[in-house]
This record gives sequence, C-alpha cells and structure tokens, in this order.
Amino acid sequence: MKKGLIIKPNTALDNKTGAWRTHRPITNQDKCIGCSLCAKLCPEGCIEMISINNKQKPRTDYDYCKGCGLCAKECPVKVIAMKEDY
Ligand code: SF4
Ligand code: SF4
Repeated sequence: MKKGLIIKPNTALDNKTGAWRTHRPITNQDKCIGCSLCAKLCPEGCIEMISINNKQKPRTDYDYCKGCGLCAKECPVKVIAMKEDY
C-alpha cells in the first residue's frame, strides 16, 4: 500500500481525476490558432493536438484534467474558458 503524498514523476496519466474538480476548460475550437502552447504546458499531459480539417487543434482528456486553469491562463488568444464542473 502506498503511503504519503509523494508520487513518482511522469505518472499523472496513471491517476484519473476524481469528482472533486470544480472547473473544466472549454476550448473555442473555431478561434484556436493551433499554437499547441496549452498542450505543452498542461502539467497533467492531458491535452493532445489532433488534426481537424488539416488544422492542429487541442483535445482535452477530461478523465485526467485537474481543472488547474493553466491552459486557459496561458493561451495567447484566450480561447479557453474555465467553466464550472458539476
Ligand atoms: S485545466 Fe490544467 S489539467 Fe486541465 S487541461 Fe488545462 S492545464 Fe491541463
Ligand atoms: S494555447 Fe490556445 S490557441 Fe494555442 S492551441 Fe491551445 S487553445 Fe489553441
């Protein structure tokens, strides 16, 4: 049985987010410029850039997103909004 709060690095995707998340990021794909900064900065590694109509767009895996808001804060064109999560 694991004790304490210290976990190994690079294990974020081993741990699904529980029901405690209060907000989730919603991306306006139409206005996204595909810079991929959100995917590079997400501390959980749960944003993947995918090709939609030959353009790179982010896809967020909400099973692992912790709702920290970093992606929304750093998006250069502010197209990610943090919405309440129920
Ligand atoms: S809110 Fe945080 S954990 Fe969720 S996708 Fe954005 S940066 Fe990643
Ligand atoms: S940081 Fe913003 S503009 Fe860049 S890929 Fe993410 S959502 Fe799109």
